[in-house]
Amino acid sequence: MAKNVKKLTLAKKLANRGDIIKPTEIIIRQNRADNVRDIEDLVGVSSGATGSINSVYFSPVQTRKQRLLNGESLKKTTMKREPLSPARVAPKKNKKDDQMVTRIKMGSATVVKCKVLPDAVDSPVTVSKVKLEVKHQREQEAQRDSDSYSEVQAPHPLWFNHLENIRIMRISRSAPVDTMGCHRCADLKADSKTQRFQNLVALMLSSQTKDQTTYEAMNRLKDRSLTPLKVKEIPVTELENLLHPVSFYKNKAKYLKQTVEILIDKYDSDIPNNVKELVALPGVGPKMAHICMAVAWNKITGIGVDVHVHRLSNRLGWVPKPTKEPEQTRVALEKWLPFSLWAEVNHLFVGFGQTICTPVKPNCVECLNKNICPSAHFKIKK
Ligand code: SF4
Repeated sequence: MAKNVKKLTLAKKLANRGDIIKPTEIIIRQNRADNVRDIEDLVGVSSGATGSINSVYFSPVQTRKQRLLNGESLKKTTMKREPLSPARVAPKKNKKDDQMVTRIKMGSATVVKCKVLPDAVDSPVTVSKVKLEVKHQREQEAQRDSDSYSEVQAPHPLWFNHLENIRIMRISRSAPVDTMGCHRCADLKADSKTQRFQNLVALMLSSQTKDQTTYEAMNRLKDRSLTPLKVKEIPVTELENLLHPVSFYKNKAKYLKQTVEILIDKYDSDIPNNVKELVALPGVGPKMAHICMAVAWNKITGIGVDVHVHRLSNRLGWVPKPTKEPEQTRVALEKWLPFSLWAEVNHLFVGFGQTICTPVKPNCVECLNKNICPSAHFKIKK
């Protein structure tokens, strides 16, 4: 009852405001069926136009409630089923859609993605089928690659087995470089010129710095809109604070300020498109330049040898004699490693060096190369 009174008051207010609706009848909640007025009953009762003073006030919601109070069942609407026209019939699934495995070519490596269907998750038969197919596929590809690289004169005869094992280990274990590497630091919504600049900045910051620290510093810079002009405006002390705790942040802030001046004046705020001009920028070395060419310009100009690639190449015997500097390692590797692997090897080795073959205490016990690695014997703990 209280509810009805409230509604009536509201209706009165509306009526006073603009002569829109004036209640002439109150629906009272009683069990007497003759008091009940339904929307269908009201059609034709009203003598005036809709909204006139003689119109009967009703609420469809109230009517439904009232029907239920009186024990009437609500009308059921039955929809006629139409056969689907050819245009509405769902298209037949492509045969490829039903395949459980998708293969994506990435350089010389192939990433195999398995489609896991909800009802197949618990099926050991399906899972083992997929595993078998993936294994078979990998073996075929490894054999194909092995044949094509059989003529390669490498410092270590089992170099290709090393590579294959590292590929397998990298697929089964993700590394910080996969999600926070320099190639993941640029703002994908920015224009391509700005993205290239951001690639270069990430590489400059990444030297002797963990990927996570670089990634966070890049996010702080991107929050300030990371373009050459913006960096030029930021005072050097403020830039240092934004870069901290990146290693050598004071030097890197100074180099960055000098670099943006050159980029604005000489390259119209873009970055150079060749190694020679990239290494001429303050704080940019050959490793950064080659990786920058690959990431920013999509051109392979050399192997990006950082501390991980340098360390692993020496541990695995991929260099004819031990090298002291990454640059020496790069020159030695480029003499024999097939060009088709140059782009892949940096990403592969960096992730492997971050997770298993770490600088201190490499995890040789879990490494698939432990029986064919020249450096494994003294690291295995029994
Ligand atoms: S066996 Fe040990 S040293 Fe050799 S690649 Fe594996 S983790 Fe590195």
